[in-house]
Amino acid sequence: MLKVLKFGGSSMADAAHYKKIKDIVAADSSRRVVVVSAAGKQNKADHKITDLLYLCYAHLQYSVSCDGIYQLIRSRYCSIRDDLGLQTDLDPAFDALREKMERGISLDELVSRGEYFSAVLMADYLGFEFIDAASWLYFRYDGTIDQEKSYAALRELAEGKCVVIPGFYGLMPDGKVRTLTRGGSDITGALAAAALDADVYENWTDVSGILMADPRVVDNPKTIERATYNELRQLSYSGAQVLHEMTVFPVREKKIPLRICNTNEPEHPGTLVSEEFVEAPSPAQRFITGIAGKKDYSIMTISKKGMSGNVSTFREILEIFENHSVPVEYTPNGIDCVSLVASTEKFAASQYTIIDELRNTIHPDSIKVSDEISIVAAVGRKMAFRAGTSGKIFAALGQVGINIRMISQGPDELNIIVGVDNKDYANTIRVLYNAFVK
Ligand code: ASP
Repeated sequence: MLKVLKFGGSSMADAAHYKKIKDIVAADSSRRVVVVSAAGKQNKADHKITDLLYLCYAHLQYSVSCDGIYQLIRSRYCSIRDDLGLQTDLDPAFDALREKMERGISLDELVSRGEYFSAVLMADYLGFEFIDAASWLYFRYDGTIDQEKSYAALRELAEGKCVVIPGFYGLMPDGKVRTLTRGGSDITGALAAAALDADVYENWTDVSGILMADPRVVDNPKTIERATYNELRQLSYSGAQVLHEMTVFPVREKKIPLRICNTNEPEHPGTLVSEEFVEAPSPAQRFITGIAGKKDYSIMTISKKGMSGNVSTFREILEIFENHSVPVEYTPNGIDCVSLVASTEKFAASQYTIIDELRNTIHPDSIKVSDEISIVAAVGRKMAFRAGTSGKIFAALGQVGINIRMISQGPDELNIIVGVDNKDYANTIRVLYNAFVK
């Protein structure tokens, strides 16, 4: 049994958290591969090391001294080391880094150092071997990850060992360091889990799993105990702050389950995400997995008599949106009308040109645009087993006078999406939560 663990910035913020990590790793002998982020904020007023490194680079670009910021970074790691009673010699690496900053260092290499120093310290503290991400995580020239080459390299380096790996970066074919997108240590962890065919990928953060609704909208929402990868994708697409799809791709591809856990509450089971679960539908079971939403959408409704009989109209409409690079997220339709739902941010700049082109191309009877629309999605794999789910949703919203501006149900019956006015956004989420979860 092998578990690959990834600890995020808040779990790496100070010596107290390193101690918690040591306990977590010691509690289970299958926890043998640990991927770490750079130190995050110790409190609200503090700074993430990665942000400070970006700031250093900006100073270097404008030839303004970055000594103060550099010292802040260096002393942060030195005090973690001292607080843990370690003897790790960080001086040579920090001196070399400072020198390289003077000579000229790439942005990616500089900002990758947060993860590097975190991993060096954590390896020493756990008594695990340090494996540099630059020695196995290989990018191609186009910026994509060469999974095959990377997996083979990590297997060679780490198979059967207890190791710590820095997240967030890897190596380009020309030997230069390259970083992943922000938050990319999650991806490193997933790649390591996939490379080593782990039984579980544990992603340790500062929340006890994924919540069933946004805690800023619903008081104390329950944790999602189990979700499928499909549900996770639906929730994140619909606005939930959960792991990015890119992150889960490597583990999902290998059918490795993902557990999201809390470093500060390690006994909490968190959320387990898997390709599928064997479960008998029972009436007592909760059949909504989570509720998510996003504000600020626009709905364009195009009406034209005889539209449904014309084979090319729909394509022509979508082509115009495509030409303006406006992604259309939903397309509910009636007999002779269709609505296109797009984020206002992406739609606003080309709105008038799109209307003009639509008028000239498909000659509609009318085009109406409504802004300030929110999209709220109820997601659940078990909805497919239930008759009457949408009825219950509409009844609950109707009872409190929320006007539904748009309805869409995915053919996979994994979600029911409603469009409401922005002003009804929070209330819609609360009403659905109270109706289905509480
Ligand atoms: N430290 C990097 C960031 O702040 C990567 C990570 O934490 O995952 O984005």
